[in-house]
Amino acid sequence: MINLKGELLDANVYILEKGDSCIIIDSGASVEKVKASLNGKKPIAIFLTHGHFDHSIHCNDYAKAFNCKIYASEKIPMTLGDSVAIYSPDHSTIDDLSNFEYLKDGQLLKVGDFDVQCIAAPGHSICCMCYLIDGDLFAGDVLFDKGIGRTDLKNSDKTAMLTTLKKLEKQDFQNVFSGHGEKSNHDIQMKNIALFKRFLSR
Ligand SMILES: [Zn+2]
Repeated sequence: MINLKGELLDANVYILEKGDSCIIIDSGASVEKVKASLNGKKPIAIFLTHGHFDHSIHCNDYAKAFNCKIYASEKIPMTLGDSVAIYSPDHSTIDDLSNFEYLKDGQLLKVGDFDVQCIAAPGHSICCMCYLIDGDLFAGDVLFDKGIGRTDLKNSDKTAMLTTLKKLEKQDFQNVFSGHGEKSNHDIQMKNIALFKRFLSR
């Protein structure tokens, strides 16, 4: 797996490879930076963990450059056209949704040789979607190596985050790759979730 850093807030971009194909999770890094990291692998899909600009900014550039679809929560159209909801620093929005395919909670998606389990995870934003791929959880801004995503933003919901944490703690996963910061794992996240369940329950 290749881990690139995006230009805004060091948001993580993950490139997962199988055979001569790859999928890209989040789009904070420039398309040039992604192209330089592909080692001849062909991107076959882009997944967004949520609509915040540090994760979504280059998604249409990737879709055009690599001629592939952008997969994201069915709730993401509620946010992409709203510069406040996606926290774009220059007040821009993402209005071209023609490359998007929308995902539902629990959906199992097969893209090439990749099997992707979609886990809707509202709380940080209404459109958060976690992806479980080969036992690894791509958690976006829901779970971090130290902490959880903010719930004081537009389209955040503390109660929904609590429900999401209870849902994620029942999932079977090993490594956790977050939208910012470092890799963590199941043990770290069980402690993290237990702590933040108590905070959010107050
Ligand atoms: Zn976010």
